[in-house]
Amino acid sequence: MENYDVIIVGAGAAGLFCAGVAGQLGRRVLLLDHAEILGEKIRISGGGRCNFTNLHSSPKNFLSMNPHFVKGPLARYTSQHFINLVQEYGVAFHEKHQGQLFCDGSAKAIIELLLKECQIGHVELRHPIAVQAISQHESSWLVNTHQGDFLGSNLVIATGGLPVPAIGASDFALQFAKQQNIPIVDPRPALVPLAFTSGIFSSMEEFAGLSVTVEISAGSAKKHYGQGHFREDLLITHKGLSGPAVLQASSYWREGETLQIVWFDASKWREICDADTNRARTVDNLLTEFFPARLAREFARQLGLQDKKWAEVSSKNKAALLDLLAHWSVKPAGTLGWNKAEVMAGGVDTTALDSRTMMVKSQPGLFFIGECIDVTGHLGGHNFQWAWSSAYVCAHGLL
Ligand SMILES: Cc1cc2nc3c(=O)[nH]c(=O)nc-3n(C[C@H](O)[C@H](O)[C@H](O)COP(=O)(O)OP(=O)(O)OC[C@H]3O[C@@H](n4cnc5c(N)ncnc54)[C@H](O)[C@@H]3O)c2cc1C
Repeated sequence: MENYDVIIVGAGAAGLFCAGVAGQLGRRVLLLDHAEILGEKIRISGGGRCNFTNLHSSPKNFLSMNPHFVKGPLARYTSQHFINLVQEYGVAFHEKHQGQLFCDGSAKAIIELLLKECQIGHVELRHPIAVQAISQHESSWLVNTHQGDFLGSNLVIATGGLPVPAIGASDFALQFAKQQNIPIVDPRPALVPLAFTSGIFSSMEEFAGLSVTVEISAGSAKKHYGQGHFREDLLITHKGLSGPAVLQASSYWREGETLQIVWFDASKWREICDADTNRARTVDNLLTEFFPARLAREFARQLGLQDKKWAEVSSKNKAALLDLLAHWSVKPAGTLGWNKAEVMAGGVDTTALDSRTMMVKSQPGLFFIGECIDVTGHLGGHNFQWAWSSAYVCAHGLL
């Protein structure tokens, strides 16, 4: 039977990076994946350009039942470390929005970089391969596959989360953790569009495709992951709401809760309303200072104020309009689910892991890294940064 220092299951972002680092530290590494094509999530990420990290990645960009857990790994392997690696490989990139770094060309450059790192580390990569069972064999881990059995002194589970099952996502990490009596924080789709059963506008079709910068809040300060506040673009879709604002908020949102949306800058609105020169303008027309004309008319219509001159609007209706647009509260029916989610919130409970190494405290030699852990990044490159940081500390912490 083949014997390795470490067997890594899952050759996505975290598994490939961990394998490369461990191999280059002199470990004999076997990396297994059930997928025919490797790195599919990296390939489709960032619209095909892979938002591979964020210049400002810090613990406040992550959700976890234990928000302190990420501090050590993120400090030891920072976004700058990964940027240095990307630069070593001559991969051209640019900053898009709030520190988000994207490849200038295809995301494939990141997959090639990771594969090259594995090659330098003499990693033995086998795929597609089906892992049938894993058990403990004396002080090692025995991995049974349809291509034979392998023995590893260390076992790293890097099989990611549940989003996008069509490209190889599975619940392997969660099932294996349960088998090992390791606690799980319930998994939920995150960074996901939200659906509504009752129409939030008179016709979703009519407004689908419109985008507005809003302030959005979701979650509750004292429960779960706390409350998230974002100022980002919201996109109206045929099914509900999406765009960066809603994706960010979705990670904090739970079934039955409402979302709070501030559609416009209330102080700028007051200035516009107070200007004498605007008295003769209609409500719809005043609202076009903030919204596309169709949406401006819809908001005026919701209060029966369409085509009404501002000077003729009662104080009560003025207050109602301000209230509508500064305190819009809606209850989503649900998320669009795992097929549309970018990440999984929840996963292996961090209380079971040592944040210095990602090792299961009660089971020396067993590690979990990447998205399968209860650590979820905000939109903007933070999830890949977590994959790199958790993989790096694990590779250095192998027994
Ligand atoms: C559409 C989309 C766009 C995204 N864009 C970005 C972005 O731009 N920036 C960002 O930071 N994050 C982005 N993400 C999130 C990011 O892709 C993930 O957080 C990241 O890939 C997680 O890395 P991972 O290694 O933990 O898991 P993955 O990259 O998902 O890798 C898991 C690997 O395990 C393998 N595997 C699964 N089950 C088994 C099994 N039973 N046996 C063997 N192998 C198995 C899979 O085939 C896969 O290769 C995006 C996600 C999606 C879905």
